[in-house]
Amino acid sequence: MKKHNFSAGPCILPQEVFQQASQAVLDFNDSGLSILEISHRSPAFVKVIEEARNLALELLNLQNKGYKALFLQGGASMQFLMTAYNLLNKKAAYLNTGTWSSKAIKEAKLFGEVIEAASSKDKNFNYIPADYSIPEDADYFHCTSNNTIFGTQMKSFPQTEVPVVCDMSSDIFSRVLDFSQFDLIYAGAQKNMGPAGATLVVIKEEILDKVKREIPSMMSYKVHIEKESMFNTPPVYAVYVSLLTLRWLKSRGGISAVEERNAQKAKLVYDEIDRNPLFKGFAAVEDRSAMNATFNLTDESNKDKFDEMWKEANINGLSGHRSVGGYRASMYNALPLESVQVLVDVMQNLEKKA
Ligand code: PMP
Repeated sequence: MKKHNFSAGPCILPQEVFQQASQAVLDFNDSGLSILEISHRSPAFVKVIEEARNLALELLNLQNKGYKALFLQGGASMQFLMTAYNLLNKKAAYLNTGTWSSKAIKEAKLFGEVIEAASSKDKNFNYIPADYSIPEDADYFHCTSNNTIFGTQMKSFPQTEVPVVCDMSSDIFSRVLDFSQFDLIYAGAQKNMGPAGATLVVIKEEILDKVKREIPSMMSYKVHIEKESMFNTPPVYAVYVSLLTLRWLKSRGGISAVEERNAQKAKLVYDEIDRNPLFKGFAAVEDRSAMNATFNLTDESNKDKFDEMWKEANINGLSGHRSVGGYRASMYNALPLESVQVLVDVMQNLEKKA
């Protein structure tokens, strides 16, 4: 029986994507060849990566606005250093909202001065700082739109003249934003886009060419743009499955339609966390993430019972990250509302039994 998969990433993808992806392993587009055995330079795959790059820009409403989309390797973690390598001359400002921001800051320090515009470390990153300023002479401002581990999400972004770089690994394609307010967006594929192994990078080209250092080819956005994301062998299968997921998203009404479904799921689980005396939310209410709901038991003596009950209900991946403890319900685009209802039912049943 299929599980209700609340895993934080890699995570659930649409069932039809799993089916199409497995078919392509056996026979890609009736070619008599598997997607795994064709050349990345073959016309069939060049078509795949071109469609994926265009569809990513289309869904983000960034077509014909000076942006390029790339599928790179090395995960979002590679982007922590690649962004700084390509953009940091003297100093950059970072908003520190958790583990991933902290890791990005650590890498950027190898390339120049890093100013922490604000940090929520004082409260174990359970909120998003407000009221901070960004130095006008910063080369860029970096933020993390959704903090996967702590379950916080930025609801607005600072208005600034400096280029804005955003790690959207765990909420890309989940909600409508004016994506043109960002100059560089990156996201590991393995949440809302596809399997691990590909990283989407969307760059406004005009921000490049400003640093003085030499950049090795594999680290250079410019090189990857010139080579249309095919400087070396791209992660063929991860790009293909990402394309299938992006097609699925488009066929389901795009980001605005999925945002509505995501809001319903988030409301269902947060309403129960707030209503049920056995649970309390971890993140500050106004900063709660629609993707990752983090919560704890009010009485730890219920832990064994609750753990047994959700596992029995066929739920997977609900344990919280070790730095927060408790539970984390990750509700990415492909997770059906019914799965969230199953979780809420278990929470209510625990209350009846406790
Ligand atoms: N940023 C965020 C917001 C993440 O959630 C993650 C991974 N879960 C990363 C960066 C690191 O991504 P990767 O493992 O692809 O390097």
